[in-house]
Amino acid sequence: MIVDLRSDTVTRPTAGMKEAMMNAPVGDDVFGEDESVNALEEKAAALFGMEAGIFCPSGTMTNQIAIKCFTRPMDEVIADETAHVYRYEGGGIAFNSAASVRLLYGDRGRLNPELIEPAINPDNIHHPRTSLVVLENTVNRGGGSCYTVGQIEPVYHLCRLKKLKLHLDGARVFNALVETGDDPKNYGRMFDGISVCLSKGLGAPVGSVLLGSLETIYQARRIRKVLGGGMRQAGFLAAAGIYALDHHVQRLKEDHQHARAIGIALAELPFVIRVLPVDTNIIIFELDPKHQADEFVLRLKHAGILCNTFGEQMIRFVTHLDVTGEMVDYTIGALRKMR
Ligand SMILES: *Cc1c(COP(=O)(O)O)cnc(C)c1O
Repeated sequence: MIVDLRSDTVTRPTAGMKEAMMNAPVGDDVFGEDESVNALEEKAAALFGMEAGIFCPSGTMTNQIAIKCFTRPMDEVIADETAHVYRYEGGGIAFNSAASVRLLYGDRGRLNPELIEPAINPDNIHHPRTSLVVLENTVNRGGGSCYTVGQIEPVYHLCRLKKLKLHLDGARVFNALVETGDDPKNYGRMFDGISVCLSKGLGAPVGSVLLGSLETIYQARRIRKVLGGGMRQAGFLAAAGIYALDHHVQRLKEDHQHARAIGIALAELPFVIRVLPVDTNIIIFELDPKHQADEFVLRLKHAGILCNTFGEQMIRFVTHLDVTGEMVDYTIGALRKMR
């Protein structure tokens, strides 16, 4: 058996999703004529109570477009030091937006007004102009930690007061929503931009949607074109996204249950010294100093379990659509045999 816990990006389209893709009505989306892309953008926007959406090839692109929309060159962006937009988007904030980043040390990647407020620069020509706060939900490097609407609300109020834009890197926003039970419309009310990834736990092969006001998304269409992200008959991919929103959201709870079961088993192993709280579908754990993460990952690979290191002593597992209950049991059994 092969259990691929490297990332929730490794999912493959299900039979139902493939059928939806093959039957999708398509057109030239650069002309705005792809019915499936339009339907996906409208559906995602309506779900979050936002005015408009734009389908993009990746979550990186939706984040980078949003940052470009919400900043001017020489501005500063506030984000947690673990933020995907800072760590894993290749320096894109500097390259695409000519903006600097003020990094904060949040609670497993989660920020609050007490952290953010002192980092907002006063209006003074010496300082870059603070114009944007980026939150991530769930937080990847925080081990899938998530914000509730109640925790986002005070950040939103601070941003309004200080006239800052607020963007959500919601690559795993549905993991947060099914876990907290929060209404996505509350997100639409608070954020100026939301990136929603369809190709992570939702199981679509490609694509993310950026949501925002009509004005923001109009600007986003220009930027997407400049970045080379204007796609033609993209409806085949958008149809997979629509299918994912219809069929794969509620089942994310199953991934969370699977992750918790693995987390509990890991905590009982003598060579595991720490398991971060398992809030959603990500499990991060630390090995004792007698073990090296890269060597441990290799040994797991021999047992058919694929995963990634997350530091010298740390390993990350991610559960997803293609990880069955049987695979979870197998993984727990294999872990218990490790020394
Ligand atoms: C995966 C991910 C993204 C987007 O990644 P792409 O591979 O570009 O789609 C953005 N933010 C977070 C937190 C992610 O985990």
